[in-house]
Amino acid sequence: MSLLKSSGVRHRRPQFHPLTVAAVERLTDRAVAVSFDIPDELRETFRFEPGQHLTLRATIGGTDVRRSYSICMSRAQAAGTGRLRIASQEVDGGAMSVWLNRVVRPGDRIEVLAPLGDFVCPTVDTEREIVAIAAGSGITPVISLVRTVLEEEPGTQVTLIFGNRTPDSTMFRAELESLAEHCAARFDLIEVFSRDSSGARDPLLTGRIDGAKVRQILRRTGVAVPEVDEWFLCGPIGLVHDVRTTIVGEGAEPASVHHEEFFQEPVPAPAD
Ligand SMILES: Cc1cc2nc3c(=O)[nH]c(=O)nc-3n(C[C@H](O)[C@H](O)[C@H](O)COP(=O)(O)OP(=O)(O)OC[C@H]3O[C@@H](n4cnc5c(N)ncnc54)[C@H](O)[C@@H]3O)c2cc1C
Repeated sequence: MSLLKSSGVRHRRPQFHPLTVAAVERLTDRAVAVSFDIPDELRETFRFEPGQHLTLRATIGGTDVRRSYSICMSRAQAAGTGRLRIASQEVDGGAMSVWLNRVVRPGDRIEVLAPLGDFVCPTVDTEREIVAIAAGSGITPVISLVRTVLEEEPGTQVTLIFGNRTPDSTMFRAELESLAEHCAARFDLIEVFSRDSSGARDPLLTGRIDGAKVRQILRRTGVAVPEVDEWFLCGPIGLVHDVRTTIVGEGAEPASVHHEEFFQEPVPAPAD
């Protein structure tokens, strides 16, 4: 189906495909991963660049709801399993995130749009230095990018700074730690927790990630900002903008800084 705009340019209406849920995996108390079987005839349609997202559509409480969820697996994992995996962190009062976390089961059919988005990192034959900075559910496109780069670029170095409230609320923690162990020479995983009741943790790795903390962590780990080839930032808008401003101020090439924002953090009400 298509629409003919007055410019004469034909725009295809996005086409949703009903996909079967193959698995629902609990990641944390508030997050699940949902995998879809991709039938052979849709393999080409659902071919993706790591970092892209799927748009899901469902009728929830009588309302047509459409939301984006990033693919959170590498290209090789997708090819090997014939599935695509997304993950959703439950948002209080949220329509689709609550439905995905509490209602959806294997065997259900969900309408899904082909992958979209330009928060991507086409792999290359050269050796690169890549830094990714993610917070909370912002890890979803980043785990796809990081894993694909490590699998497809044998000489590339990757640093991931990943912020969460606590170890237990961290999505893909075991998977990332196992990847860091497996690729120890090329993948530096730096976890930052905003809530640490023990007081025993390194203060630099405690608290919310912001530009100043990122600057200090990069100095300590010996990453020379102007020499980084590509940056990938994903998380709340405030964090992404603060980190971007900081690293560009430290000499990062603006065109090398890619970012994806999931959500505008609520602006606190002004004090009376
Ligand atoms: C390109 C893109 C990729 C995304 N990828 C992912 C992903 O991989 N995993 C994932 O969990 N989410 C992802 N999101 C966010 C996701 O699309 C939804 O916005 C989120 O799940 C909330 O939808 P909802 O229907 O549950 O909440 P809604 O019903 O839309 O919102 C309910 C309330 O929660 C607030 N709210 C909405 N979103 C958030 C949020 N993210 N954090 C805090 N409060 C919020 C709203 O202001 C509203 O008050 C992505 C968003 C974009 C744009």
